[in-house]
Amino acid sequence: MNNAWTIEFTRIVVVVAIAILFGLVSGYWMLAILVPFSVYVGWMLTQIRVLERWIRLGAKNSLAPDSNGIWQLIVQHIVHAQRKNTERKVRLSQMANRFEAIIAALPEATVVINANREIELTNQASFTLLGIDKQRDLGQKIDNLIRDPAFHALIESPEQNTQVEIESPIDNLKTLSMNCVDFGSDQKLITARDVSQRIAVQKLRKAFIANASHELRTPLTVIAGYLELLESEVDIPEHIRRQITNASHQASRMQKILDDLLMLSKLEEKGYNKRSGVVVDMASLVEKLVADFRKTRAKGTHEIIMNVDHSLQVKAVESELYSLCQNLLSNAVKYSPKGSVIHVKWEKAPEGSPVFTVTDNGEGIAPEYISRLTERFFRVNVNRSRQIGGTGLGLSIVKHILENLGGYLNVESELGRGSEFSAYFPRYRAIDESQVAQNVQVLKPQEEGFREIS
Ligand code: ADP
Repeated sequence: MNNAWTIEFTRIVVVVAIAILFGLVSGYWMLAILVPFSVYVGWMLTQIRVLERWIRLGAKNSLAPDSNGIWQLIVQHIVHAQRKNTERKVRLSQMANRFEAIIAALPEATVVINANREIELTNQASFTLLGIDKQRDLGQKIDNLIRDPAFHALIESPEQNTQVEIESPIDNLKTLSMNCVDFGSDQKLITARDVSQRIAVQKLRKAFIANASHELRTPLTVIAGYLELLESEVDIPEHIRRQITNASHQASRMQKILDDLLMLSKLEEKGYNKRSGVVVDMASLVEKLVADFRKTRAKGTHEIIMNVDHSLQVKAVESELYSLCQNLLSNAVKYSPKGSVIHVKWEKAPEGSPVFTVTDNGEGIAPEYISRLTERFFRVNVNRSRQIGGTGLGLSIVKHILENLGGYLNVESELGRGSEFSAYFPRYRAIDESQVAQNVQVLKPQEEGFREIS
């Protein structure tokens, strides 16, 4: 038992002793008990009152009541809790200051909004990039300050950590990459980064590739024409003819690379558009393409088994769809041995997305290369690809076509066993028979052979 309790018990013992003594001396036991205990209870009440007043006035350490026994112990506990509380408050306010200093120093514009989209916190970079003023705009709705629909879609989207690129609301020469994440209770953290320089370099690179390809095309066509003319000459020595044939072969390879590069830059320029395209009868397009392959590139070498759903059509751009299917099918022919079987499918995947699949049992691709297949000029075996007329741009074109339509390419492959390339289109692009009947005119693939794009 500590000292405070000993004092308290001593007090009680003294009160009881006085009561007994007084009772024995006077014989008035009732009075003998009542008086000392009333004094004790009165004293207790006074202590409680003093304590209550002290707490009410802020429980300041300097004004702590001067007491002993249990009352002193209580005062000590309160003072201790008070000190702990003050220390915690100081720590919290230091943390808050440090957090604010970090946010202020961030080079990225940082804005916190609440469930009503009102600005709760912002930093200096938000002023430079978004024009949001810390003093003026706190409590304002962010919708009034950034009006770009892409930004509104970003903050409404349930997806986390998605990004959009928008023009700065205060400087139309700046492009900002905006990011939005949920945090706390219904709050959102919005960040914006200036990506103008990257966009400018990208534009420059795209323009250079497009211009260079365009400029090279005409002289190359002339060279190819002359080479063809020379090849048809009858009285040239055989060793020179071989060289001309080789040069002519290289010229057509260069033409194909330029065509692919031009197509890629057009696709990049076009970008994603949810509403692009018309209803295309994909089943007929695939049938026509397969018939073409059976007569030409796969003739006598590969068996193509086709399975297409005629009731499934897709809203897309016909020439792009053709290029996509043709690239995947020609790769299957190029990279699988003679005598092998290729499966071509056009169907609705279980989750409702239209999907075009080409499966081969050819050489397959090692897992470490799969993620790189759609990079420009990436080839697993460069020499081999060159020999068989590859440009290394086919899958890059396929990826861009699908991205522009909102779809994606899925590749599954096993080295030595074969590959499966699946082009997934978004569900909203699927058009079934009933819609076609009451809707738009279906674009049939042209009757005569398709133009080869890649
Ligand atoms: P390429 O013109 O070289 O075929 P692509 O972009 O179409 O260029 O393909 C890139 C690389 O991916 C190819 O060089 C090849 O190594 C690999 N590839 C593509 N399709 C297949 C396939 N069906 N089987 C095995 N490898 C493939």
